[in-house]
Amino acid sequence: LVAFLLFLFLMVMPLGSAFGAASSVASALGALGRITEVLDLPAETATDAADQRLEPTRVQAPAVEFEGVSFSYRGADGERVDVLHDVSFTVPRGTRTALVGPSGAGKSTMLALLERFYDVDGGAVRVGGVDVKRLPRDVLRSQFGYVEQDAPALAGTIRDNLRLAAPLATDDDVLRALDAVNLRATVLKHPEGLDAEVGEEGVLLSGGERQRLAIARALLADAPILLLDESTSNLDGRNEQLLRDSLAAASEGRTTIVIAHRLSTVVDADQIVVVDGGRAVAAGRHEELLTTSPLYRELAATQLLV
Ligand code: ATP
Repeated sequence: LVAFLLFLFLMVMPLGSAFGAASSVASALGALGRITEVLDLPAETATDAADQRLEPTRVQAPAVEFEGVSFSYRGADGERVDVLHDVSFTVPRGTRTALVGPSGAGKSTMLALLERFYDVDGGAVRVGGVDVKRLPRDVLRSQFGYVEQDAPALAGTIRDNLRLAAPLATDDDVLRALDAVNLRATVLKHPEGLDAEVGEEGVLLSGGERQRLAIARALLADAPILLLDESTSNLDGRNEQLLRDSLAAASEGRTTIVIAHRLSTVVDADQIVVVDGGRAVAAGRHEELLTTSPLYRELAATQLLV
């Protein structure tokens, strides 16, 4: 019996390490688009080990909370650049929040603090009720799907592009994700289908289509919170509608925070947070803010393209 157990143990050991290696490769791939930010990561602190995961008892907590957050970047000369001041807002689970405000107001910085590319100087950022400083980085990052502005399509096939963050996705999964963002027909029109290379030699994608491809990738990764930095580039009416439909499909039942540059995105958001000069100066729905926030009224009048 002892020999049999030893045999079993020896059989299982390498499997365990193989799974470990596979998941490391997956997380390394997931981080690929963020290499520059990863280099800026603050060191893990002793408190990181305190909360190993988002405990089920906290499932009632809001998906995201900023409470009295202040933050400064440190310049190359060590000089502090104050960016956020006493920012507070709450994003309930399963809802869509739009961040709007002039260029340089601090919207992207808020997303960077949420994923803990930097640590706050004051206040707290919480995900699922837990301070992000208390979550191991892999647990924290697994909560987010991120679609960056002007998302690049990567070298490789359509399938490679989509399975980057979900290496175990099947072709059926990939096709469902392409369907959700209305790219299935565009891809299948090509004789090589999912094996077609992205780019001039294969499937040529416009800016709007690349962002939809990135949304499909985030859908496959199936993270509970979707972060999207909407493209500022001008899209024609049809492409704008397709992007809006894709965003609606991706945010279905999922907490979504979008840095919005289009009025069409904010009008159906559950909450709009107006950011100005590093402060959250107003929050509410579109109709409400039109009457309560002069800055929002101004942004809306210019169609938010700032
Ligand atoms: P935009 O809509 O133009 O992207 P934003 O509202 O997202 O603007 P942030 O990108 O968060 O604004 O920038 C807020 C401020 O922080 C700006 O003044 C910007 O110059 C500054 N800033 C951003 N990143 C850094 C950095 N890495 N180091 C120093 N200052 C930075």
